[in-house]
Amino acid sequence: MLRLLTAIDFAANKHRQQRRKDPEGTPYINHPIGVARILYEEGGVDDTAALMAAVLHDTVEDTDTTFDELTQAFGDEVSRIVAECTDDKTLPKADRKRLQIENAPHKSDKAKLVKLADKIYNLRDLQRTTPKGWTPERVAEYFVWAKRVTDGCRGVNARLESILDRIYAESIKA
Ligand code: NDP
Ligand code: ZN
Repeated sequence: MLRLLTAIDFAANKHRQQRRKDPEGTPYINHPIGVARILYEEGGVDDTAALMAAVLHDTVEDTDTTFDELTQAFGDEVSRIVAECTDDKTLPKADRKRLQIENAPHKSDKAKLVKLADKIYNLRDLQRTTPKGWTPERVAEYFVWAKRVTDGCRGVNARLESILDRIYAESIKA
């Protein structure tokens, strides 16, 4: 519990200047905390390293956090799971999106769990409200892309996978 709370405290501090893309500009930290909750409550995942990685999964991608810092503070396993969930921001966006699809099947089970919960959170956000400046086409493309990523993460948690099946059935037009 202390390790998990320390990870939440760390992530809240790192993301403190950031907001989500919804029109309300929700504090960014709502997202990683929500991803961890989805994993635990909806996925039944009680592995501490996976829950900590969920809380920390966007810190390196979106803040000045380094993997060394995560390893020092939270150990090798947590840092490695976060690394598996981190895009290489030196690459063009189209390559990053393509690599998420291509790399998904090769990730560890714990990284796949975090990816599934991350996509559930983001897709629910998109079902709730459209981000500032997004067209309906962009939202629709995001669902199709996310499905290609999560299809590569299947086989680790039937509960999370069936939640995603329902989301795609509601939101992807044939
Ligand atoms: P982005 O990657 O720009 O944005 C989605 C990411 O933003 C999520 O994965 C999530 O990442 C984060 N996020 C923050 N706030 C929210 C929120 N309220 N709801 C959902 N996600 C949020 O989107 P894409 O580039 O993937 O765009 C979607 C599709 O649109 C793509 O398939 C692309 O082809 C197309 N596109 C269209 C453009 C256009 O102008 N028409 C421009 C660019 C792309 P995290 O978990 O890291 O927070
Ligand atoms: Zn995320």
